Amino acid sequence: MAVYHGPRCRQCRREGVKLMLKGERCKSENCAVERRPFPPGMRVSKRRRSATEYNMQLREKQKIRRIYGVLEKQFSLYFATAAKASGVTGETLLQILEMRLDNIIYRLGLAPSRSSARLLVLHNHFRVNGNKVNIPSIQLKAGDTIQVRDKSKNLEVIHSSLKALRDIPEWLTIDKVKLEGTVVRIPERTAIPVNVQEQLVVELYSR
Ligand code: SF4
Repeated sequence: MAVYHGPRCRQCRREGVKLMLKGERCKSENCAVERRPFPPGMRVSKRRRSATEYNMQLREKQKIRRIYGVLEKQFSLYFATAAKASGVTGETLLQILEMRLDNIIYRLGLAPSRSSARLLVLHNHFRVNGNKVNIPSIQLKAGDTIQVRDKSKNLEVIHSSLKALRDIPEWLTIDKVKLEGTVVRIPERTAIPVNVQEQLVVELYSR
């Protein structure tokens, strides 16, 4: 499975916002965006960036891709699926990204970040509807359940993540004792807590 292996904080600095890619570290004073609030690369940081329409659309797409940890090709496929579906394309795109298994594990608080959730899935620590899974990108649907496998129930990363969890979106439920989550419904846009302008991505792909 192709994933980005470069420095994650660099991605946040490039977009100029906290994308929350590193779990607890993102909430601490060690966050690179707070320590160095300018784009990576000396020369780039001193150059004025042009805020053309295209640039803004491109940056928004990159931001969404980076938040969900999706590579370019996969993202294009998601967009094509969203464009073919009925409904608002931008909202559908975000719904597809939200319904990925790694994202839902992160949202349930069973992993501190999406990248950590991806690794846990790859290492066979979860079941979906009772079946073993090791594909982080699989799409879940309303009514699906996610269980931590018995052999993985003592994993420190899962328990420390759950301990740090404040609340989960209303479209998910979690049983912290059984370590089992449920997708109640596909979230509408207002229930997806990402601060992005997905309409700019639609405009980008419409060029
Ligand atoms: Fe981004 Fe988190 Fe790194 Fe801050 S600590 S720059 S939010 S990945």
